[in-house]
Amino acid sequence: MFNLLWPTRCLICLQTVAATHPIEHLCSGCLNILPWNTPACARCAQPLPSTQPYCAHCLKNPMPQQRTYIVFHYTPPISDWIHAAKFGASFIHCRLLSQLLSHTLARRSTPWPQCILPIPLHPRRLRQRGYNQAIEIARPLCHRFDIPMDIRSLLRHRYNQPQSKLALKERKNNVRDSFQLQQPLAVSHIALLDDVSTSGNTLEAASRALLMQGPLELEYWCIAKPF
Ligand SMILES: [Zn+2]
Ligand SMILES: [Zn+2]
Repeated sequence: MFNLLWPTRCLICLQTVAATHPIEHLCSGCLNILPWNTPACARCAQPLPSTQPYCAHCLKNPMPQQRTYIVFHYTPPISDWIHAAKFGASFIHCRLLSQLLSHTLARRSTPWPQCILPIPLHPRRLRQRGYNQAIEIARPLCHRFDIPMDIRSLLRHRYNQPQSKLALKERKNNVRDSFQLQQPLAVSHIALLDDVSTSGNTLEAASRALLMQGPLELEYWCIAKPF
């Protein structure tokens, strides 16, 4: 009834979006022209010219993660939506980004992780912002794919400068040793979820804290990266 009176419109072209469409706020035409990151390396998500499974770097160098999904290139409109989700408390955008990640993940044929672990904010930043956008993006995914969310095991105990304000080479030091494992992990296959991966240093630092306990199968799930 609500949909008949106030039909959902596409955020880009303002056309009415059918209530049955899997992405609530985007029509099929606009969905197709988003800056999708495909084809990409299955292990690190670096864009590839063809559908070979791994990039040359991953074939030579061991990485902490076994699989990475980075759904988009960090360009408009995706970068604007992430900004709204992160700094504008726009839960419509958190939900939209979650649906877009879910759209990509639904095509996977490999076993699913046993939990989703959104990258935590430092408690002080969480108090300032009032919410963690990574948790808001994870929540609908946990529901759709029936995977528990873990927001207790990992603590961000160092208050860092926002990564986006630093030069690339300062970013690694900024997040190094930022995370601490709070309690033993009860699972061995985890998806670490973040909204943006700029240099990959945050995910790497979080992985290092998790791997202190022993070997784990890790996946990185991100909305976008400026490649
Ligand atoms: Zn549209
Ligand atoms: Zn790779």
